[in-house]
This record gives sequence, C-alpha cells and structure tokens, in this order.
Amino acid sequence: MMYNVHEPRVLVVGGGLVGLCAALFLRRQGVEVTVVERRVTTSPQPKARRINIRTMELFRQLGIADRVLEAARDLGKRYPAGAFIDDGRPHTMERLDVSGQPGTRLPHTFLTPDRSTLDLIGTEFVLFTGPAGTAWRAAADQEGIDSYTVDETYRKTVGLNADGALLVRPDQIIAWRAPELTADPGAALRTALELTLYAPVPHPPPSRSA
Ligand SMILES: Cc1cc2nc3c(=O)[nH]c(=O)nc-3n(C[C@H](O)[C@H](O)[C@H](O)COP(=O)(O)OP(=O)(O)OC[C@H]3O[C@@H](n4cnc5c(N)ncnc54)[C@H](O)[C@@H]3O)c2cc1C
Repeated sequence: MMYNVHEPRVLVVGGGLVGLCAALFLRRQGVEVTVVERRVTTSPQPKARRINIRTMELFRQLGIADRVLEAARDLGKRYPAGAFIDDGRPHTMERLDVSGQPGTRLPHTFLTPDRSTLDLIGTEFVLFTGPAGTAWRAAADQEGIDSYTVDETYRKTVGLNADGALLVRPDQIIAWRAPELTADPGAALRTALELTLYAPVPHPPPSRSA
C-alpha cells in the first residue's frame, strides 16, 4: 500500500466526544478524516451534566459553542404553570431536578441494559405507576394511553407510593403526579390530561374546509 505523507488520512474509530472533536480539529487542519461509529444514533441518556471552561473554549474554536449551548438549553428546563399541574412543592432549579416533580424532565433509568425509561416516551402521554397501580392502568387504558409499572427504586426517585401514578408528556416533561391512589383515578387522570392541554385527535381529523 502506498502512503502519501503530504496528504495524511485518518480513521477515527468511535464517534463519541473525543472521536468527534478529534475529527473536527483534524478537518480544521485540512486532514481528511473518516469517523466510524458502531451505533446508529446518539444515546438518549445524557453523559455530560456540565462542560468545563476549557472545553467550551475548544468548542468556540471549532465554531460549535452556540450549538452546544442551544442543545443543552432544555436540560433542567421547567415549564410555566399550565403545561403541568403544580404539586405545590418548592422548585430548586440550581441543579438538574430529577425528583419526578411536575414541570421537570422525566428521570432516566435503565429498564433493561439497552432500554431507558426515556425510550418509553413516544408521541403520546404515558403513565407510570407503582406495582399497586392497577386502577391507574385501567384509567390509562380508558384514555387510550400507554402505562408502565416501575420498580421500587424508580418509583421512590420520582416520589410515588406503590399505588401512585406519574403522567408524562410526549416531550418527556412530567405533567402531573398523584403520589397515591385517589378516590376516582379515571376522573383524576382525565382532568390532568385536559388541564395539561391534551386533546385526543379525532379519527379521522376534521376537514379544514368544513
Ligand atoms: C453518567 C455519566 C455522566 C458524565 N458526566 C460528565 C459531565 O458532566 N461532564 C463531562 O465532561 N464528562 C462527563 N462524563 C464523561 C464523558 O461522557 C466522557 O468523558 C466522554 O463521553 C468520553 O468520550 P469518548 O469519546 O472517549 O468515549 P464515549 O463517549 O464513550 O464514545 C466512544 C464511542 O465509540 C464507539 N465505539 C466503541 N467501540 C467502537 C468500535 N469498535 N467501532 C466503532 N465505534 C466504537 C461507542 O459506540 C461510542 O459512541 C460522564 C459520563 C457518564 C457515563
């Protein structure tokens, strides 16, 4: 094989933080780079809650600092009232809130080695319950939304008793929390869905010209 020492080519194995940054810096030097990554997409689980100053300087050099800040904007985000039902507890947003409090992001945990709670959130609302949440799951069925039972560690993380329920919006923000079973779970869930602006789409959708 012939090598041209004046036009080096680099193969970067792994498109993580180090591989991608190395590739970007090499490209800035005019070096031809190929990055190979075994995964088909980025991970839904965050692996960087903070980025140090020197790293931001390097991102600035690469011209991507604004895009990094933009991508991080939603972490620790809290919606204004209306998008969720406030449970009256004080909010602390100096740190990333992963307590299951309405208005904050659903905490991640692995359910299986390659599946996260975040993977369960698709395009509809989702209800999480404790093991004694049969009535909540029946109510979720009535509303046509998916429900999942979570283990003890996770339900304690998100502030649920064994018979509690947590309603999550499609954007992974917690809409409502019932720490324990209420007298009429069906009505409570319906009210929560209505209050958090959920409107089931009629099938087929109404014609615009009507
Ligand atoms: C929970 C957690 C929180 C963290 N928080 C922070 C933080 O707040 N701030 C911070 O600065 N750092 C944080 N880190 C550390 C940071 O994530 C790592 O330092 C950084 O991801 C390392 O980058 P990397 O490219 O070396 O490895 P990785 O990010 O692991 O990337 C390696 C990549 O190589 C791919 N790969 C591996 N083998 C092959 C192969 N044979 N072929 C093709 N592709 C392959 C993998 O799929 C992966 O995408 C955190 C890490 C974890 C786990």
